[in-house]
Amino acid sequence: MLPKNPNAFAHSPLDRAGHRRRDEAWLKAALADNQKCLVAVFHERKPLLFENGGKLFPRYLANHVPAELGKGEPLFLGVDAHGSTYFACEIEDPAVLGEYGAIHDLRGASAQLEPDALAILGCARAIFEWHARNGFCATCGARTNVVEAGWKRACPACKAEHFPRVDPVAIMLPVFGEKCLLARQRQFPPGMYSALAGYIEPGESIEEGAARETLEESGLVAREVRLHSNQPWPFPYSLMIGAIIDVASDAERIDEEELETARWFTREEARALVAGKHPDVFCPPPFAIAHQLIKSWAEA
Ligand SMILES: [Zn+2]
Repeated sequence: MLPKNPNAFAHSPLDRAGHRRRDEAWLKAALADNQKCLVAVFHERKPLLFENGGKLFPRYLANHVPAELGKGEPLFLGVDAHGSTYFACEIEDPAVLGEYGAIHDLRGASAQLEPDALAILGCARAIFEWHARNGFCATCGARTNVVEAGWKRACPACKAEHFPRVDPVAIMLPVFGEKCLLARQRQFPPGMYSALAGYIEPGESIEEGAARETLEESGLVAREVRLHSNQPWPFPYSLMIGAIIDVASDAERIDEEELETARWFTREEARALVAGKHPDVFCPPPFAIAHQLIKSWAEA
C-alpha cells in the first residue's frame, strides 16, 4: 500500500502501463476496441465536462473520436481495474462537441470533480501543457515529434529525446509556538491568505529549498523542516511538496516584491479558516495542498 496522501490530483485509479507506450500494435488494438476505450477530450488544455446534479464529470468519448478532430496521436493514460483503457486527445474546435458537454478550466472546475477524475484529467493536462511549451528541441532548435503515445518528444534532426518534466515547488507553513504565518500574493482574490511557496533550485534538498524560500519570503529562520505531504499539481506541471516549518521567531519581514502582506493565525483561527468560518479572511479550497497543510497543523 502507498502511504496515505490527503491531496487532490494524486491517487490515480489507473495503472499507467508504461510498457505499452511503445507497443504500437497493442495501442492500435486498444484504440479500436469500442467497448473498453475511453477518450478524455481537451481543447487548449481544458477538459470537456458535463454537469449532473451540481457536480462535473469528464465526458469520455468512445474510441470513435473523429481522427480529423485530433491534433495528433492520442495520449495513453493507462488501464483501470476493469480493463478499460484511457486516452486523451486535444481537439481544434470544441464547437463540434457541443452536445456532449462544455469545455471547462480544470482549476476552476476542480472543486466540483471527483478525486478519480482529478487524477486522470490532471495527468493529461500536465502532459498537454508540456507539449504546448516544448515543441522545439532544446538541443538544436528543430521541431520535435510526439512519440511513445504522448510520453516523449523526439528530435528528427539531432535525435535528442525529451521527456515530460515535473517542477518541484515547496509549500511552507511557518509555525512559531501556537501560531502560523500565512501570506497574500498581490494576485490573490481579496481576503485570501495562503502558505508560502517557491521553486526548489538545482543543488538543493527539499528541506534546504523550503528553508531558503521561507527566509527569503518572510525573513524567518527555519529551525526544523517537517515534510507533510506532496501533490501532483497540473498548473502547469509541478510537484507541490508541503512542509511545516518551525521558525526561530515571530519577527517576520516580508519580501514586498513577492508578497503583499503576511499575518499570524492562532490554531483556533486556522481551524475557522479551513472550515470557511473565519470572520474576515479565507484560505485556498480543499483541493489545494496549502489547505491540507493548514488543516493538518490546525487540527494537530
Ligand atoms: Zn534536436
